[in-house]
Amino acid sequence: MTDPGAFLHPFARPLERDIVTIVAGDGAYVVDDHGNRYVDALAGLWYCNLGHGRAEIADAVAGVLRTLGPFHTFERFTNEPAEALTATLRELAPMDGARVFLTSSGSEAVDSAMKLARAAHVLRGEPARTVVISRRHAYHGVTYGGVSAQGIPANQAGFGPLLPDVVVADHEDLDDVARVVAAHDGRVAAILAEPVIGAGGVYPPTPGYLEGLRRLCDESGAFLVFDEVICGFGRLGHWWGADRFGVRPDMVTFAKAVTSGYQPLGGVLVGPAVRAPLEADPSFVLRHGHTYSGHPAACAAGNVAIRLTRDEGLLDRAVKIGDQLAAGLDDLVRDGRLAGARGDGAVWAALVNDDTSAVDVRNRMLDDGVLARPLGTAAVAFCPPLVSDESTIGRCIDALGRALAR
Ligand code: PLP
Repeated sequence: MTDPGAFLHPFARPLERDIVTIVAGDGAYVVDDHGNRYVDALAGLWYCNLGHGRAEIADAVAGVLRTLGPFHTFERFTNEPAEALTATLRELAPMDGARVFLTSSGSEAVDSAMKLARAAHVLRGEPARTVVISRRHAYHGVTYGGVSAQGIPANQAGFGPLLPDVVVADHEDLDDVARVVAAHDGRVAAILAEPVIGAGGVYPPTPGYLEGLRRLCDESGAFLVFDEVICGFGRLGHWWGADRFGVRPDMVTFAKAVTSGYQPLGGVLVGPAVRAPLEADPSFVLRHGHTYSGHPAACAAGNVAIRLTRDEGLLDRAVKIGDQLAAGLDDLVRDGRLAGARGDGAVWAALVNDDTSAVDVRNRMLDDGVLARPLGTAAVAFCPPLVSDESTIGRCIDALGRALAR
């Protein structure tokens, strides 16, 4: 057997040989080492809202690395980029009076929110509240909290035993969630939900569902946690899915587009209901944090990415991109090439017919110069950079149409 190479790729067959080496990018496009140019129709992995090759972010990161390099934020230490970023996020947050916990990834953000929920209930004097309810099809990352909370069994297989007291409810049927809450009466720490489920298949919420989760949390004493790792920072035409659907969570997890993916950064917006118990006893120490929580270079990237998102009007642009994607997919549904389409804002899934494999469709599109992502075998996801112009989105739809026609 020949050596498959040193790099053991994430979410790949360990013997995968058909690897594409990406060497450059500009705007909504990336280029491989053979000079092939592709539309990045998933914004990398749902993060690159500002597009590739943004010198403003590179310069900010380089500047911080030159003047400071790394320094941690444990205990009494901080740095200016982290202070600026958390202040901006507090202003943008979909709840008043939030504080911001920083991580390096979405998985760490989800684990942090789960731990903060449990710890806050302990401090409130309700240590029995350990149950976290998540939803079918949800994707919450791969560390043990996040993978336990996923609603995608294939991603859990072989990794058990998973975290106890993490229970999956239905993603559309609120009555099912109510049944799960009732079955764990007085023991629910949090309900965890993506406003629009992303990697698990792109499922927008059914009408009233997110409001219903808020109600169930209010009635049962659980915290509502929105996982906005994909939805946050403009993807749905608002800063947060919480704003898009008008529902106030107690915590929000974020990552990805906070830096447009230019640096690994994530975190948790911690609202007043969770803050209060953490802050009640001045001698309490929050024994949770990562070496790179508040890394100055990552935070510098976040500060510039948020400013550019605002200055370039990308929230409005997300709505226009979504309208164009929705119309294009709808045409393919009407002519029978697609079984359906689902999405909201600028994140959509094309649902292929039963006799078609989404992986084959992705492969044909790749050969045609468009990088989309199969979700299982039944859906192909689109989540393009928010700087994409009309002709770029047109290329995505045209390439999908050709891939389905073959
Ligand atoms: N939560 C959601 C909603 C995600 O989409 C993802 C990643 O796609 C994660 C959590 C995990 O983030 P990461 O891969 O940065 O750990």
